[in-house]
Amino acid sequence: MTETQRESYQSADVQWLIASDLDGTLLDHFSYSHQPADATLAELEARGIPVILNSSKTRDEMLELRRALNNQHPFIVENGSAIFIPRGYFPHKPERAREETGYWVLEPGARRDCILDFLQQDSEAHGAPYLNFAAASTADIVAATGLSQEEAEKANQRGYSEPLLWQGDEQQKLAFTARANASGFATLQGGRFLHVLGQTDKGLATKLLKKTYQQYTDRECKLIASGDGPNDLDMLKVADIAIIVRSPAHQPPTLSHHPSLIVTRETGPQGWADAIAEIFAPDSASREQARN
Ligand SMILES: [Mg+2]
Repeated sequence: MTETQRESYQSADVQWLIASDLDGTLLDHFSYSHQPADATLAELEARGIPVILNSSKTRDEMLELRRALNNQHPFIVENGSAIFIPRGYFPHKPERAREETGYWVLEPGARRDCILDFLQQDSEAHGAPYLNFAAASTADIVAATGLSQEEAEKANQRGYSEPLLWQGDEQQKLAFTARANASGFATLQGGRFLHVLGQTDKGLATKLLKKTYQQYTDRECKLIASGDGPNDLDMLKVADIAIIVRSPAHQPPTLSHHPSLIVTRETGPQGWADAIAEIFAPDSASREQARN
């Protein structure tokens, strides 16, 4: 990063927004601890720089983590499917936002009932070589996946996507994915499940939220995005500064041609905090590096 870049990063005319993944980024890959990021999170809060949590997790899962992180800002759930903005966060309700207890909700993705309608229709013509969570009991999910009872219940409390445990072959999966795309849905292969969701991603939702912030301020909104996995790339691509947080479990994903990319040396929340320090407090970051 050049000195000129650093100076412009600290300009008073800029409202910075930081979008961040959770698992492996703000939360340690193994222990789920956020402790190494806590001081930085508090400092950003004091400086009026919002941290927007953006994850594949559901609303309920994210509300719990958001409380633990002392975070009061909008957040993005289920891989860009919906943006929850605390009611009253902006001077008035953003255009096209839906009201839900305590929140204004923007929905670039698809509601789960629309996805279930598609699955119902599709299965009538093509069969259903998968375990469909909405149609399964918790005991069925536990038996088929090896998840704990609690994990199975959580995985089934979704608003905007349907996990399928695929039981057919690869060719059937490809054909299914093509039909889902043609019907206006997307699929995302996770470690265990094939997720059916709306045609959205973490980047599309982040861009929409940035646009919403921009409507309410005269300062120029600029975006820092941080993540550790391939499903973070869409979000990193739309950011003015991209932070790839190193993982103890896999190689950093490849992001080519980004004008301002930081790949952290440390993993998880420590890497995240170091990168933020490098952007906003280059002096302390270089002191830190000199010490090492
Ligand atoms: Mg992650």
